Amino acid sequence: MRKLLKGWGGGAGSAPEHGNPASAASVDPARRLAIFDEIERAPGLWFWATDAEGRLAYISASGCTRLGVTAAECIGQPFAGLFETDPESPGESSERPLQFLLRSHGKLADMILRLVPARAAQGTAPSWWTVSGQPCHDDAGTFIGHRGTARDVTVEYRRKVEDSRAAEFDSLTGLANRHRMSRRLEQVLAAYRPAGRTCGLLLLDLDRFKQVNDTLGHPAGDELLRQVAQRLRKAIGDRGEIGRLGGDEFEVFLPDVDDRGALGDLATRIIALLSQPYFVEGDRAVIGASVGMAIAPFDGQDREALVRSADLALYAAKNGGRGQYRFFSADLRDEKEERRLLEDDLRVAVERGEIALLYQPVVRTADHAVVGFEALMRWEHSERGTLLPEIFIPIAEESGLIHGLGAWALAQACADATAWPQNLRVSVNVSPAQFADRDFPTLVADALSASGLAADRLELELTEAIFLADAEVTDAAFRALKALGVRLALDDFGTGFSSLSTLRTAPFDKLKVDRSFVEACTLRDQNGARIIAAIIGLADALGMETVVEGVEAFDQFDLVTARGARFIQGFLYSEPLPQADVLARMESEVLRIAPDGPKRHRPERRSVYRRIGVIHEDHRYEALLRDLSATGARIDGLVGVPEGTGLVLDLGGGQLAIGTVIRSDQAMIGVEFELPLVGDGAGGLVTRHRVAPHVVAAATRNAAGTVPKFTEVSPTRRG
Ligand code: C2E
Ligand code: MG
Ligand code: MG
Repeated sequence: MRKLLKGWGGGAGSAPEHGNPASAASVDPARRLAIFDEIERAPGLWFWATDAEGRLAYISASGCTRLGVTAAECIGQPFAGLFETDPESPGESSERPLQFLLRSHGKLADMILRLVPARAAQGTAPSWWTVSGQPCHDDAGTFIGHRGTARDVTVEYRRKVEDSRAAEFDSLTGLANRHRMSRRLEQVLAAYRPAGRTCGLLLLDLDRFKQVNDTLGHPAGDELLRQVAQRLRKAIGDRGEIGRLGGDEFEVFLPDVDDRGALGDLATRIIALLSQPYFVEGDRAVIGASVGMAIAPFDGQDREALVRSADLALYAAKNGGRGQYRFFSADLRDEKEERRLLEDDLRVAVERGEIALLYQPVVRTADHAVVGFEALMRWEHSERGTLLPEIFIPIAEESGLIHGLGAWALAQACADATAWPQNLRVSVNVSPAQFADRDFPTLVADALSASGLAADRLELELTEAIFLADAEVTDAAFRALKALGVRLALDDFGTGFSSLSTLRTAPFDKLKVDRSFVEACTLRDQNGARIIAAIIGLADALGMETVVEGVEAFDQFDLVTARGARFIQGFLYSEPLPQADVLARMESEVLRIAPDGPKRHRPERRSVYRRIGVIHEDHRYEALLRDLSATGARIDGLVGVPEGTGLVLDLGGGQLAIGTVIRSDQAMIGVEFELPLVGDGAGGLVTRHRVAPHVVAAATRNAAGTVPKFTEVSPTRRG
């Protein structure tokens, strides 16, 4: 022992009783040894020594006990083999590994190491140790090994791990917190960048969470967030990492994902999953979710840029009417600013007479007689042309302008309807925020008395979102409106979270079946038609009328009438019309409209008018995209392209679509895509995958000096 202690430098927590080693020389060697023996017997601290090869040469008896071995069994074994670096260690250790320090004759300064579990006595919990030690040399200066201490720090270490868990994880949901998500995403992106690997980022924001929190209370809000976290875990599984950034904001990143089709599907699934009703503390709550998505490296190479892109996409998703997802695209950069400008303009739009109501007929299918009209708002913006409600109603709702706008619409619609035959009703859409206003019934009464319209000719169209407001206010409004004698319709039925029990108790006279079911029933989706039949049956049983919205083609008409639809509102009969046109059509008391439209419903084909690149062999042409659908495109500007020619369309932003020419008529060619495009969440279409910008740039450069095979003509010059 005396020999082993030679050169002992005193590690942490092991200062000898008599202070610095210099004074130790004056103490009687026997007494000194006795003191060290006592220290060595204390639990939780042991001494060790290695030979020049890093093998254990000495270990305190207490150390052997802790290891569950006899000295004979471990002496001569590699010292580094006793410990391992803890995989769960909080914070990244920049320290050199033990083995390296032993080999390089370095100093060991308070290294925190975990005892290799197999080494620990059977059944003992894992333990952590701080290991310190000094390299020692003999009188000739030759390295003879290390001497040092090891101290049990399990309790302190556990606490540190817990603290760092609290610093990295959200205590409410157990998900990673903002801090951890930032760090992890940064790490992943940095590791992926050199290899050009991709990473999808989803930002999620709950819709109407604040309302639930306010009405049901904070404990219920907390419980709801926990359930949201569970559902997210279910949706993502181990494909990515999920975090809660705070409030009702969540983040998910998915390494090695760049397929926008798959991401769009995932976002749809998440939104559907989170929109299912929740049961919290005996109450039923319904919220929605919006998702913004960006993909590295296309939409941002580092964390900051990628998050900014996903954030803009989320912003657009929320503005698009909630319950939606959006991919980032360069156009979104301006949307935030656009919206602010629109809000300013909207403040003065009514005064300037820029807001108008159009009227769309509701028609009885049996005899094609018009039974009423729905008032639909339009904004004739001085610079932007006609704006649809989906653009400006959300702005009005968020800014509070909806109250003035809604009051105007109600008064105007009542006044216009007095000029129609007595048997025709007018339907007016009411935003949830208006309905939640205690003075709303008075507003309705005023509109009726000012115009002189009979109360039963006015129908208010409400959506299921009204049930999220204070139940007392909602019930009082229902009573007051029923007392006035106006009719109530439940709009967009089937798109929200309709509970059959609300239907039973709320005094609706009519259900409006949402357009999405009609669209679905001609897309070879038998469920669409079945749901329509079920809704109509349900409404019949509850004594309510039904109107089926959005019928555009005869095949849809046949399908929905076969399923029991008696009233239809859709383009097949008429688009929304200005009041002047409505009056012009009203020569007779019974107004009839003959249905008119395509035989079969075709999924929306978007007319576009955009310059794109067309690549054939190694030449790049410029052409005009006239028409784009998921499966193909119509292109203007190339003459002499035979059918069957393979082309690549450069749709911009790294989107290359490979296709074959299936029609060629002078300068107009039809191209069928090899891989269908996917939805961008905003009704637009995008390619599933993208190629990095530098690849496109290189291809464009290479194509510069090549000889064209086809003639390029300018569509604009041809008129
Ligand atoms: P909504 O109340 O469900 O109105 C029906 C929407 O479907 C209208 O869109 C109408 O033009 C459209 N539509 C009707 N038939 C067809 C069809 O056959 N095919 C297609 N593709 N569409 C059809 P619009 O006018 O753009 O209004 C959108 C939404 O904006 C309305 O949905 C309503 O929720 C809201 N809105 C409109 N006017 C007002 C208003 O004055 N106040 C409030 N609060 N909301 C309004
Ligand atoms: Mg409506
Ligand atoms: Mg509707």
